Amino acid sequence: MVKETIRVYARVKPLGRRQQAGSYSVDDEEDLLSSLEITVPRDLADGFVNNKRETYKFKFQKIFDQEAKQDVIFDSIAKPVAECVLAGYNGTIFAYGQTGSGKTFTITGGAERYSDRGIIPRTLSYIFDQLQKDSSKVYTTHVSYLEIYNECGYDLLDPRHEASRLEDLPKVTIMEDSDQNIHLKNLSLQQATNEEEALNLLFLGDTNRMIAETPMNQASSRSHCIFTVHVSSKEPGSATIRRSKLHLVDLAGSERVAKTGVGGHLLTEAKYINLSLHYLEQVIIALAEKNRSHIPYRNSMMTSVLRDSLGGNCMTTMIATLSIDKRNIDESISTCRFAQRVALIKNEAVLNEEIDPRLMIVQLKKEIQDLKDELELVTGKQRTSELSQEELLQLDELIEMFLKDKDPDSTLDVGADMRKIKYCFIHMKQLMNHPTISDKKLLSQNISEEEDSNKESGEELEKLKDLLQQRDNEINILVNMLKKEKKKAQDALFQLNASSACSTVLEQSLSINLEDRQSPSNCFSLKGAKDFSSSVHRLPFLSRQTGGKMSLGCQEAFEVFKRDHADSITIEDNKQLLKQRFAEVKCLGEKLNEVRSKINCLKGEITQRHIQRAALAVSSPSEELNMFDPVEEKLRMQIEEEKKSYKTMFNRFKGLKVEIEHLQLLMEKVKMKMQKDFEVWWSEEAKNLQQEKPEMVTSPNTVTVYPQFIKSLQHLSTNSFSEITRVSPNEDPPGKNNSITFSNPTLKTRTPQSSSTSIPLTGDSQADADILAFMKARQRILQRKGLENK
Ligand code: ADP
Ligand code: MG
Repeated sequence: MVKETIRVYARVKPLGRRQQAGSYSVDDEEDLLSSLEITVPRDLADGFVNNKRETYKFKFQKIFDQEAKQDVIFDSIAKPVAECVLAGYNGTIFAYGQTGSGKTFTITGGAERYSDRGIIPRTLSYIFDQLQKDSSKVYTTHVSYLEIYNECGYDLLDPRHEASRLEDLPKVTIMEDSDQNIHLKNLSLQQATNEEEALNLLFLGDTNRMIAETPMNQASSRSHCIFTVHVSSKEPGSATIRRSKLHLVDLAGSERVAKTGVGGHLLTEAKYINLSLHYLEQVIIALAEKNRSHIPYRNSMMTSVLRDSLGGNCMTTMIATLSIDKRNIDESISTCRFAQRVALIKNEAVLNEEIDPRLMIVQLKKEIQDLKDELELVTGKQRTSELSQEELLQLDELIEMFLKDKDPDSTLDVGADMRKIKYCFIHMKQLMNHPTISDKKLLSQNISEEEDSNKESGEELEKLKDLLQQRDNEINILVNMLKKEKKKAQDALFQLNASSACSTVLEQSLSINLEDRQSPSNCFSLKGAKDFSSSVHRLPFLSRQTGGKMSLGCQEAFEVFKRDHADSITIEDNKQLLKQRFAEVKCLGEKLNEVRSKINCLKGEITQRHIQRAALAVSSPSEELNMFDPVEEKLRMQIEEEKKSYKTMFNRFKGLKVEIEHLQLLMEKVKMKMQKDFEVWWSEEAKNLQQEKPEMVTSPNTVTVYPQFIKSLQHLSTNSFSEITRVSPNEDPPGKNNSITFSNPTLKTRTPQSSSTSIPLTGDSQADADILAFMKARQRILQRKGLENK
């Protein structure tokens, strides 16, 4: 058992461009702990005489100042916890702080650079690395990802669901068993056999989290997210299993409601969040108090889920994220106060060992067999678990004699055989309960019952055979259906990849089959990874929102939006970096192939020398065969050298592979974010248009319901947009050729080439309104672009 207090660290976020630095200082010297001193300037508005405190001092295990990089955070905070988890203890790392103070950055990481990856991806990498190195145990790893929003839990990893709202995800509920252990119903545990699979799951969860979030519900700052890695290990042949869990928790923003100044729906939300953080605080206060027997864990879902992490069987670490700019000093102080209370809590982590029941049965069976053998050796008789008919009849006779014997001292001696003793007791009990039934009858009754049951089991067997045949047929039909469905899905996926405007970069992605490369005897090859089968859940957003296709007009608008988007620089940078890495990997792969061939050549030379020397020995036996051969020795040394360089290159190769995969995930994430921004922007534009020109829009649905809007645009061709006429808005619409023209005089001067565009109308008022809305939006984009170019 390991008894220790929760470790509390602080991390100060770098200042933003427009932020004014608050006054603080970090002192690392004091008795192993670091202290943070925050100074609040006297507020002149309060008058010269005020009793407001000026400096506040807080102690932490360590304070990471603005320059601290992600790798240092991982090494100092997360690595020790990951090590404990590998050893069989539970671990938790949670980030606490106001919105924008860097919780998500610390726990998950930034979406721009590979070096910005946070605690989760680094921990996964570390854990799988360690598991691979330890061949003395068999490990299995699973991950789960839970989001708690407004006191409801949602499973972020369910691949069967395509969520466009949080409510579409499976709801997770809490169950408590008779031993008061918490179980999460509906939270899926996904097996991850390697780092890549685990990262894909993290990415799937993050994507679901992002997509479920709308401008109305900024769930990410108002929800708690718990990413859990479940590790179990067992030594081969042993019945003892060790199970441990690592919770990596990104809590909701801790800011107080008054400051956020929200109302209505948001207030309800804030109430819930603040309530759950309030309950967290209550639990922490209760735990810090001595002699408190009741800890109010049950008040909120989050405290119930984290019960073990707080004051239980767990090694827990907290990271207080601070944004010490002038405006956020108050919030930073309250975060530090919370941290000081957390630091008082003592946890007792125990090794989570349990016995595997299947292995236990095997062991017990063996033990029984050993005992039986021993008994047979001692008694000289072989014993089965059942008594034979002959033995039963003998016993019946003995019992009868015993009962009839009038001598009070008579005994019933059946020998030291438990089976016989038990039989006697049962038989006597039956006679006691049914005194009229003779023992003979009892026995025969048993026999006839046995016959009946034999007959019955024969019938049962026939029935089961029929059922089995029926199930076989059903399975065959299902397998055929499945094959057809799979083919359909593959075709659809192929189409999606081909049509997706975003997939160009991904097409360059390379999948490197590591297994093929583990042994030098295999060749290195790089193949284009259009293979999405290992990451089927990627790009759910695109397929969901557009039904697998974007209309051409919408695509055109998206292209322009993409160019303008701030993240396009990040994508471009990462694209370049990816190209570089691909080139490096390719070059390394070729080099590795060369080294491998070289090793093979050298081996061949050694074999040649062996043959030559053997031939020599046959022709002139006087030659000393076993004499030291300096040439061979030199060849062997060369092989060793080549092997060394092979190993170094191979490690670099593996590192590059992980980096490439991570970069690809980052890029997909940024792209999805961009698409989401586009969707929000697009519907905003449509809404604005309706407000400006209400008479043109006949159905309110066309403006507010974006997916319908896109669909109704899908029948438009690009040609419709390139045809340009110049007609002022005051002119009558040329109904003859069934087209309508829209022009904007102010726009005309800025982007004359696209100021008015003629498009054919469908005659359907709703679709026409859509077309107009689209055209307006398109002009806005062009206008924006024109302005920027200027
Ligand atoms: P929170 O999750 O607490 O609301 P985020 O992690 O989203 O805050 O951080 C807000 C912004 O600040 C993000 O753009 C993030 O990239 C940036 N950021 C946070 N911490 C750091 C850091 N230590 N270094 C660089 N950027 C950071
Ligand atoms: Mg966050």
